[in-house]
Amino acid sequence: MTEAEQALITEAGRQLGPKGVIADPQEIAPWVSDWRGRVHGASPAILAPASTEEVVTIVKLAAAHRVPLVPQGGNTGMAAGATPAADGSQVLLSLRRMNRIRSVSAENRLAVAEAGVVLATLHDAANEVGMRFPLTLGARGSCTIGGLTSTNAGGTQVLKFGTMRALVAGVEAVLPDGSVHDGLTGLKKDNRGYSLDQLLIGAEGTLGVVTAVALRLVPAVAARAVAWAGVDSPLRALDLLRFLDARTTAVEGFELVPQDSLDLVLRHVPGTRAPLLGEHAWHVLVEATTPDSSHDITAELEQLLAAALQEGIIGDAVLASSEAQAEAFWKIRDTISEAERAEGQTLAHDISVAVGDMPRFLTEGAKTVEARFPGTRAAGFGHLGDGNVHFHVRAPTGTDGPSWYEGEGHVISAFVHDLVVAAGGSISAEHGIGQLKRDELARLSSPARMMALRAIKRAFDSRELMNPGKLVTLAPDGATP
Ligand SMILES: Cc1cc2nc3c(=O)[nH]c(=O)nc-3n(C[C@H](O)[C@H](O)[C@H](O)COP(=O)(O)OP(=O)(O)OC[C@H]3O[C@@H](n4cnc5c(N)ncnc54)[C@H](O)[C@@H]3O)c2cc1C
Repeated sequence: MTEAEQALITEAGRQLGPKGVIADPQEIAPWVSDWRGRVHGASPAILAPASTEEVVTIVKLAAAHRVPLVPQGGNTGMAAGATPAADGSQVLLSLRRMNRIRSVSAENRLAVAEAGVVLATLHDAANEVGMRFPLTLGARGSCTIGGLTSTNAGGTQVLKFGTMRALVAGVEAVLPDGSVHDGLTGLKKDNRGYSLDQLLIGAEGTLGVVTAVALRLVPAVAARAVAWAGVDSPLRALDLLRFLDARTTAVEGFELVPQDSLDLVLRHVPGTRAPLLGEHAWHVLVEATTPDSSHDITAELEQLLAAALQEGIIGDAVLASSEAQAEAFWKIRDTISEAERAEGQTLAHDISVAVGDMPRFLTEGAKTVEARFPGTRAAGFGHLGDGNVHFHVRAPTGTDGPSWYEGEGHVISAFVHDLVVAAGGSISAEHGIGQLKRDELARLSSPARMMALRAIKRAFDSRELMNPGKLVTLAPDGATP
């Protein structure tokens, strides 16, 4: 530990009390590696403030001692954005103790939640007043509002409700100089120039520390219908989405699952079973909801799927006959990453292209990658209707050791990103840049984008004390200062 870190930690302990500093290496250990276990860092302590004022104290102390901070929520991020540097030169700042829901208002359709509130807790709180926070994703039991905001997370209901950018009404954050931006009024109309709130959404902790967020609510779901359909290609899956779109506004979840991903889940995740009996190359999970209890949403979806079957768009479909079965269908979708992790080395690419181009990208892209890197298996799953899939490439069978990631894996990811850019897409659709994609962002972005990103970073945090080494660095060669 450096002298500066020692001074920061001692002074923070004095001002925040014993709960404000975690110094036990065993308690620190689970938080210094990323969720996928790919990147391992070190931190001499975890600072754990319980209020915005305590975050101000820490940020000012860190600035005075020139110690970089790494904000962290649930540590479920997919880009290693919350993982500190391996040399122990950065200190973790956990927001998990800031877990109060400050208000929930059905009248204003707003909730104000502190950064450390877990997504599932917010769902429950909104439900209690007959409302709903519509964003959801597989990590809802552990990811936090601060992390979701800072990564501009998406998830499975973006099709209808948008990403965090659409659902955040305002942000409270401590800026690198210790001043507090209070954007929690949740005003629908507010044109005072640049939107600081929007700048902080997706900033990945590089511009300040999010301490609380005002979130838009929608009426609670009165009923939902969940179905699983088999199709023979991603193009057919998109045809199904367009078929449904033209006939109902109730569809809010539409997830594409290739047979390969389904096989992995059935192999590795206990208690899962295939929803359909026959063989289908691709599958779609459809969720339709209604806030109106007199609307028979199950009958509506059933009729629409029957019509799609008759038109030859889908090969087969089954509607969940109970909530338990609906949850079982979603479990298959939500555990694909977990199943891949159990299977072996997998390169994850969270990419987007125009929705209409996605079917071709999925089939042609997978073929091109597998031909160029023999033995690999490439497939995409996820949010087809958003033009966003998780395009994953598995290592050839028998590949051992993490070195594959740094060797061939590195080359494969660059190859995939080149394909995405050639298709006019983005190398990060919803997971952010973190440290895993930082150099690729710099390699593949226009000079204008990089100039603007660096200018914004410099304006807020010229000393690079806020999550350095993530998203963008001021040093043009990408070196961490
Ligand atoms: C099983 C699983 C499924 C997932 N599915 C999806 C999905 O469908 N869509 C999707 O978008 N993501 C998905 N994710 C990724 C992840 O859940 C999101 O990125 C989530 O937003 C991270 O929240 P967190 O609290 O864990 O943040 P962390 O991982 O702790 O941090 C993420 C980033 O935000 C920064 N940060 C965290 N809190 C703050 C704060 N208070 N102030 C400033 N910066 C902060 C960190 O420094 C880091 O850069 C999934 C993850 C898992 C494990």
